[in-house]
Amino acid sequence: MNQHTRFNLPICLAVEEDAFFHSDDIVKRYIPDIIGQKAIVVSEEFLIGIYKEKITDISRDFGNAEIVSMNSASFDEAVAIAKKVCIEDIKVIIGIGGGRVLDTAKYAAHISKAVYICMPTSLSNDSLASPFSVLETYGKARKTFACKIPTAIIVDTNMIINAPVGQTLSGIGDTIAKHTALYDWKLSASKTSSQVDDFAYALSRMSFDSVYHCDQQDMKSRVFIRILSRALVMGGLAMEIAGSSRPCSGSEHLFAHAIEEYYPDIKISHGLAVALGTIPACIFQRQDIDGLLSFFKAHGLDVDPASYGITKDMFADMWEKARTVRTGRITVLDEIKHDRVQLDEIYSRMAEGI
Ligand SMILES: [Zn+2]
Repeated sequence: MNQHTRFNLPICLAVEEDAFFHSDDIVKRYIPDIIGQKAIVVSEEFLIGIYKEKITDISRDFGNAEIVSMNSASFDEAVAIAKKVCIEDIKVIIGIGGGRVLDTAKYAAHISKAVYICMPTSLSNDSLASPFSVLETYGKARKTFACKIPTAIIVDTNMIINAPVGQTLSGIGDTIAKHTALYDWKLSASKTSSQVDDFAYALSRMSFDSVYHCDQQDMKSRVFIRILSRALVMGGLAMEIAGSSRPCSGSEHLFAHAIEEYYPDIKISHGLAVALGTIPACIFQRQDIDGLLSFFKAHGLDVDPASYGITKDMFADMWEKARTVRTGRITVLDEIKHDRVQLDEIYSRMAEGI
């Protein structure tokens, strides 16, 4: 198959101040025939409470679109929304929220073939524009499903500036993780018959570079938020072009998946978990960690596993589990032996700030 006929790009990417107040004008600029089509807004109860005015305004702009408050970020919920969309001849789904809402709305749009407009209220990870949705399946077990990327992405910089700092830090963590993910992708290609897609590689590398080398380090500044928004979107597009999550997900993500699946009581966001995994991954890959460490310090990203309640034993077990949590994904973990002494040493160094 010709690789370059199988990916989609969003028609619209707007990163503007107060964009949520004129989202209809933005959409109209790119997809004029969307206005007047039946739409629904998908969000969550607490967000509808906090952003009542903005969400009502967006609903009004899209023909008094019904506001649906989702109950869970699950496969069943996405299917229920898709069912409503198909039965009621709804053509447009507008997702307003964080990762949970956006993944559910994105998958509902994928199943129902509706146009999907993505409007994030925080920048906590790169699922924003990615061709994947992480949804609950049976109970709290989660699975990643391939899906269509959004038709339009509208980021309101004012909204993101006012979001909790932890969310933005998580988005930074997911961007920084590309450093070790890209190394693992190349390593995997050299060990198998698979190839690295140069364009997807370059996009993901640029996404990392734009945040890593950004002069503006104030997370509340508009410049930084614009850069981070675009970096996360470019990460998503790199995955779409590569046809896999490889440009953005390597051994550091396997570590995070091991925490999510085997240690659900550890309260750490996806972005912070992958950021934490980046340091040991870098050491396993024999890459220099000094630059990353100064970046972590400058942004107040904590490198001490104990600060998230991760003990030395858990840390070693998480890395052991990371080897098997996603079978078939070759990373540096396939190149090294499980070495408890080395892991304990890395843990101690991280606890001391390295
Ligand atoms: Zn990620």
